[in-house]
Amino acid sequence: MSRLHFASALLPSGWANDVQVVITAGAIADVTPDVPPAAGDERHDVALPGLASLHSHAFQRGMAGLAELRGNSTDTFWTWRETMYRFALAMTPDDVTAVATLVYVEMLEQGFTRVGEFHYLHHDRDGSHYDDPAEMAARIAQAAEASGIGLTLLPSFYAHGSFGGAAPHDGQRRFICSVDQFAKLMAASRKTIATLPGANIGIAPHSLRAVAPDELSAVIPLAEGGPVHIHAAEQVKEVEDCLAWSGRRPVQWLLEHAPVDRRWCVIHATHMTDQEVSALAKTGAVAGLCPITEASLGDGIFPARDFLDAGGLFGIGTDSNVLVGAADELRQLEYGQRLKHRARNVLSGGAGRSTGRTLFDAAVAGGAQAMAQPAVGLSPGARADIVTLDGSHPSLAGRARDAVIDGWIFAAGSTAIDCVWAGGNKVVEGGRHKLRQAARERFNAAVRRLVA
Ligand SMILES: [Zn+2]
Repeated sequence: MSRLHFASALLPSGWANDVQVVITAGAIADVTPDVPPAAGDERHDVALPGLASLHSHAFQRGMAGLAELRGNSTDTFWTWRETMYRFALAMTPDDVTAVATLVYVEMLEQGFTRVGEFHYLHHDRDGSHYDDPAEMAARIAQAAEASGIGLTLLPSFYAHGSFGGAAPHDGQRRFICSVDQFAKLMAASRKTIATLPGANIGIAPHSLRAVAPDELSAVIPLAEGGPVHIHAAEQVKEVEDCLAWSGRRPVQWLLEHAPVDRRWCVIHATHMTDQEVSALAKTGAVAGLCPITEASLGDGIFPARDFLDAGGLFGIGTDSNVLVGAADELRQLEYGQRLKHRARNVLSGGAGRSTGRTLFDAAVAGGAQAMAQPAVGLSPGARADIVTLDGSHPSLAGRARDAVIDGWIFAAGSTAIDCVWAGGNKVVEGGRHKLRQAARERFNAAVRRLVA
């Protein structure tokens, strides 16, 4: 058991002062506001619940910044994808462990205490299948265990190169499964995470490009009630190809043909008509937004103002992990809307409301729903995922309550994070994860070899 005391803490009911939190067996056992610190309490300034990065492809951290050299033609998502495939094809299981461990360490240092790993690098470098179909999933689980981050493993089903069941191309050979192979991979993955504290599992049909309609129907039951994540409508070309294939746009097709509900997380959903925006919001599904990656890849700007006005739920993900930051993702989300609508505080939810607080609350709730975490935030029964901010940071000076969150997201960024507990373990102190140095050395050795 450990006892923490915070001068102020953001609880599900709102801000409270002098809050004591008791942790037992990795979970929050008790939360008591308005009590003075007791002898033996570990004391901190400001406590927030941890966030989920609900959409990550950990291995892509290895190529962060390596696709910023302009090619001969108009540089698009599709040329970035070629670089990504080359990188993916070279990585060994040990490389994946090294890269994923570092990116999870970085996520924790940024205030992410859970990751939704949309995992599709399943097979060996030549495309042959490992003896254990969950070989690579086990590497993700190892990285989660070493770093302490909560893992929601989302094995991805990927079968085709484009709409209409087109054959995959050679660069996709490590991702490809039949439905039967994927069922075995799911069973093995379940076994792999069974002993990992705080881990759970869902499925991720990759996209309507990679999954045919009959396959989508066949794989959804393999989630066994867990979350279902799918990429949709990230790129204009994808929308055009989907229209050519089906006469429907990707989100429209999903809403008409798939049982989209609160278990679902639609990743990106960047390009939607007004009708799609309101229809997706009504399903209760979470929009999985990855504003930094979407900006990096030139995807477009998610219609966040209209989606939130329609009651839509969202969470945030670090996706390509080109830059890992919780405050950065939320700031980019709001700044995209400011640039689009030429206005300020677009997503605050109304006059007198803090933009940072509104975004943070929504991302905590949407992240928990998309990761199938029943208890949310700093409340009894929830996993003890807690982030403290450094009250002495210049961007937080003189601030209280919501203004602290605004100071963190819009001014300080990650430098304001002090300590992070994940599953009750204090893994970050003074802004540094205890494995930072070792994880960097192992990552650097792997990446130096991969880019050589
Ligand atoms: Zn993705």
